[in-house]
Formats: sequence, C-alpha cells, structure tokens
Amino acid sequence: MSTLIVQKNLIVDNYHIMCGETGVKVIPMLKGNAYGLGDVEIARALYDAGVKMFSVSRLEEAMRLHEALPDVEILLLTPYSTEKAANIITDIDITAAVGSYDSAVLLNGVAAKKDKKCRVHIAFDTGMGRSGFLPQEVEKAIQAAKYLTNLTVCGCFSHFSNCFGKSKKDVALQLEQFLKCTSALKSAGIDPGMCHIANSNASLLYPETRLNAVRTGSALLGRVGVKTKAPLKRVGALQCEICDTHWLPAGHNIGYGNTMKTKKALKIAVIPTGYADGLYVCKAKDTFRFRDVLRYGFQDFKYLFGSGKMYCKIKGKKARILGRIGFCNVVADISNIDCNAGDIAEFSINPMYVNTNVPRAYV
Ligand SMILES: *Cc1c(COP(=O)(O)O)cnc(C)c1O
Repeated sequence: MSTLIVQKNLIVDNYHIMCGETGVKVIPMLKGNAYGLGDVEIARALYDAGVKMFSVSRLEEAMRLHEALPDVEILLLTPYSTEKAANIITDIDITAAVGSYDSAVLLNGVAAKKDKKCRVHIAFDTGMGRSGFLPQEVEKAIQAAKYLTNLTVCGCFSHFSNCFGKSKKDVALQLEQFLKCTSALKSAGIDPGMCHIANSNASLLYPETRLNAVRTGSALLGRVGVKTKAPLKRVGALQCEICDTHWLPAGHNIGYGNTMKTKKALKIAVIPTGYADGLYVCKAKDTFRFRDVLRYGFQDFKYLFGSGKMYCKIKGKKARILGRIGFCNVVADISNIDCNAGDIAEFSINPMYVNTNVPRAYV
C-alpha cells in the first residue's frame, strides 16, 4: 500500500522563506484540501507557527477550517451569491469576497438581520473572467462600500490569469487595472484595506505585485512552476513497499509499449504503485488520443536520450525507474542496491496529484 508522507516542518519552513522573500504578509492558500496535503493538518501546523489568517476557495473548506481553528481569520476568496452561503458566512464570521453589487446587498441584508458586521474583501475581475467587479464597474463597488453598513471592507483583491513566467505584459496589465480600482476607492474616501493580487509565482517573479499581502499556495509545497532563487523545499513523498525483487536476463523487455530492453542482466524491484495513486500522472498520457500518442512518443524519446529518466529512492539510494510507469506497478533497477521485498521505495510527488484514497502520514 502507498502512503503520502507530508513533511509539515518543510511547509512551515517554506512559509518563513516566503515571508522573508516577499517582505509582506503571507496568506496561506489552502484550497483543494491544501493541494492534497490535508487542509486542517496544514492549517494547524502553520497556526502553531503563528499564522492567524488563511484563505480558501470553497465555502465547505472555510467551514471545515473554522471548525478546527475557530479563532483564525478565514478569507473565502470565491464570491458566493446565494442566501444559504451568506447565512453560513455570517454565522461563523468568515471574511467573504464580494464581487457584485447584488451579492453585496444580499450579504449586507443577511448580516443586518443578525445584527452583525461582515468583514469583506472586494474582488475585482481584472482579467480572470470569473467573479468580481469589472474595473469599469468600480463605481458599484464604491457604492456598496459606502452604503451597505453591515459590511466592513477590510481588503481588495484580484487574481492573475497568466502568470507562468512568460507573460510579464499580462501581469503588468492586470496589476495596473487593479491599482486603478483601489485608487478609485481611495479617491471616494474608502479605505481599500489590505490589497493583494499575487499568487506564489507572481510574488516570486514580480516584486511590484506584492502590495500589502500575497496569497501563497504552491510555494508552501515548494513546487512552483517558475525559476526562483528562493530556497523552497519540496513537500510530499509517496512511499510504497516493494512487493518483489528478482533478476531479469539481458535483452528482456520491461513494461508496456516495449520501450525498454535490458542491456545486461538487471535486478529489479516491483513496486505496487503507479498512475492509480497519482504517480507521474502529470506525465501520464492517454494513449487513445492521437496527440497523446505523439506526446508519449516524445516521452519515450526523451527517455532514450536520458533527459526523461525517473528515479525513486530505496535505502537512501537512487534507483532508476525502468520502462513506462504502469497503472498499478512500477519497476526499478536495484542491481546496485541491497534491498528486499518489504523495503520502502520513495517517490517525490506533487501531492496535488495523489489520489484522495491514499492515506496521508504527517511527519
Ligand atoms: C490558487 C490561488 C492562489 C494561490 O496560487 P499559488 O500559485 O498556488 O500560490 C491565490 N489566489 C487565488 C484566488 C487562488 O485561486
């Protein structure tokens, strides 16, 4: 059976590294069950390190976090426009994103009925095309902030749609739009509060996007998609017991597609993990589609010429993975490693891809 090892201390280290790197408030983003790590566990580890504010994407994530850590501020970044959501938000005092005048009116009304003030961050859609006031609707946001007295504006935010290191122009444009919105609020006498737009990539690549705070998800996992000098540490390792070891003769195939033939006799370990657990699914290909056949071919090509080699760790040593990854089986070369069935093979893996039924172990 496979287990996802989650190194909580590395997440806390990455949090501190991001604080040092950005010099502003770092708001951990714990969406998608904290990118597969387990949101409550990760929130607790960060809470113990002094973090008092978290952001999430869904209402149910906010509810779960509130139940586990009732005294932290939870910023729900997706604007919800239903009365049901407004009721929950005001019941448990979540900081809500407000992205339209109508939903602001609704939330304000629900809060008023309970004689409560609801903390909100105003969402601006500067290019993502989801929710949020459009920059040309900033006047509506101003009206909402001015006249809906059961809402307390504590912040303003937006989100980059194309921030992968290759499109500085798109980032600059969205930032400019956002700053125009917050300036308009200020000119109307409204304090925009905490202004934030940067995710991990933006905050690492473009210092000017850091503003008052950054929302950090993937950097906490040490798995950002851009080049950075920040010494982030990779979180997440899939461990699986080797189920069998034996020698194969020279000239023998390993795995589907007959892409790997042993040049000499090899000792192999069979490890019962694979795509089914999420292993290398980012590289997995659906061979039934033509373009994937092409990509598969490219992967095999890279594999042959060395750049696509994959490894796992067994007894502290690097063991090369042989042939294609299978759905439930992986084969590794252990010719030079003294190990047996029952020993552990470890794979570095992005927790985001690890199947939810793989148990998590927190270390
Ligand atoms: C996912 C997300 C983030 C964090 O993004 P990372 O790139 O993982 O740091 C920040 N803000 C919003 C609105 C998000 O959806």
